[in-house]
Amino acid sequence: MDYILALDQGTTSSRAILFDRAGQVAALAQQEFKQHFPQPGWVEHDAREIWTSQLAVARECIKKMAVAQSGYAQVAPNIVAIGITNQRETAVLWDRETGQPVAPAIVWQDRRTAGRCDQLRGLGHAKRILRKTGLVLDAYFSGTKLEWLLDHVPGARARAERGELAFGTIDSWLIWNLTGGRVHATDASNASRTLLFNLHTLQWDDELLALLHIPRSVLPQVLPSSGVLGETEAALFGAPIRIAGVAGDQQAATFGQACFAPGMAKNTYGTGCFMLMNTGTAAVPSRNQLLTTVAWCGPSSPLPREGEGWGGGGRKAVAKPSRACYALEGSVFMAGATIQWLRDGLQMIASADEVEALAASVPDTGDVYLVPAFAGLGAPDWDGHARGTLIGMTRGTTRAHIARAALESIALQVADMFGAMARDAGFALKELRVDGGACRNNLLMQMQADFLGVPVVRPQVTETTALGAAYLAGLATGFWSGADEITAQWAVERRFEPAMADGHRAAKLARWRQAVARSRAWAQ
Ligand code: ADP
Repeated sequence: MDYILALDQGTTSSRAILFDRAGQVAALAQQEFKQHFPQPGWVEHDAREIWTSQLAVARECIKKMAVAQSGYAQVAPNIVAIGITNQRETAVLWDRETGQPVAPAIVWQDRRTAGRCDQLRGLGHAKRILRKTGLVLDAYFSGTKLEWLLDHVPGARARAERGELAFGTIDSWLIWNLTGGRVHATDASNASRTLLFNLHTLQWDDELLALLHIPRSVLPQVLPSSGVLGETEAALFGAPIRIAGVAGDQQAATFGQACFAPGMAKNTYGTGCFMLMNTGTAAVPSRNQLLTTVAWCGPSSPLPREGEGWGGGGRKAVAKPSRACYALEGSVFMAGATIQWLRDGLQMIASADEVEALAASVPDTGDVYLVPAFAGLGAPDWDGHARGTLIGMTRGTTRAHIARAALESIALQVADMFGAMARDAGFALKELRVDGGACRNNLLMQMQADFLGVPVVRPQVTETTALGAAYLAGLATGFWSGADEITAQWAVERRFEPAMADGHRAAKLARWRQAVARSRAWAQ
């Protein structure tokens, strides 16, 4: 039996999963690592711990598979290739000579460069940045984090200008370590989250580099998301393994959901929600402050051609990307986190799973709405001063109504985002594919189908992020033949059909918009 090893380096844990030819999980290992909060608003990771935990879970996963297939840890399974997917935007700066990071990694959640972003906005740069990168000028993205490191780590700027330092997002850092420092590369999906990458030319943008004072010498080479880019050091896993797929976590999940055609979309229900919609070879600008991003980039075409792989497994490094598949992206800040708040803040439930039965114990919310603007509102409202609002309560309101309103709030926010996306793209979306921890809540998924008016589809394999990375690597090495084979593998676990009358849906959405309006401009 042959396998593809997916390395899924997330914000709180490193995971490794072996996938078989049927796209099923054969073995899995996971390890959490430490979060550092040195100051309010700062979030850091130790890049060395990211690497050691990722290597440890990869080895553990391989060992588990060895024991499962032969009873002996020494009889290693045959791994055809490695695919990498990762927390996006997190910035690492390291010494090319020693391979050691020169500072803690600045995590995507870190807000230390918010002031710098305000300054750049004040100088009138936001529009140009948006046009070139598809991104809203925000501290979330890597560019101002890298600038901060170059300005604040003693000697870093001079050393960078002499070519002694290397920058990368987590994918680059893992590739560097896996190849023993031989390959300094990233893929176009990760590059498109840096504020430094031109979405249209698929290259680092000199004007943006100058604006953020980034010397070109620190940047990794940008490669397609699928294609053999190097081999692991033989000592790491006993024999060299080709690294053949790389994509940021949300883009990888979109690929793992087989959203290959324009208009296909997936939503991940985790702490927050991340929705991505494939827009094909067009980088569609948003009028609703959604982001435009590279979804993935094949070596020659945005999607593998029928019946063909994406490279044939050659050991030569792949060429620079020429054409990409793009996506519109939107996020909801408070999704599963709203249920955590019911559990920890209100102590209304003991575990997240309890919310379904509690909410189902009443037929409706009794006209109660919860707007979970605990941290302001994101797309399409964008109001940092909005705050959490619970409205419509009467003497008859119970905790069950509030729990139901909390679940509805997740589905209603997603419906708003879905509408904005469809308007931006000019596509009618036919269905929504779902994954993430909260998608196992059947009541929530039914509400979602009702509020969208299109079916919500839950796949059998919900490890879509790791699976997407595996698919990208497997397509490049002939493990899978092409997009049609993957489309055939993607299997429905359950389909939720909209069951709400159109008039009822419109009334519900209008009432929700009234509640959202009341939540706005509250914090001073
Ligand atoms: P993340 O990757 O963001 O940590 P996960 O995909 O692991 O998130 O999903 C966990 C989130 O899903 C938590 O916020 C939790 O409150 C929520 N959640 C888990 N189970 C349920 C459920 N049955 N119903 C609603 N929300 C749930």
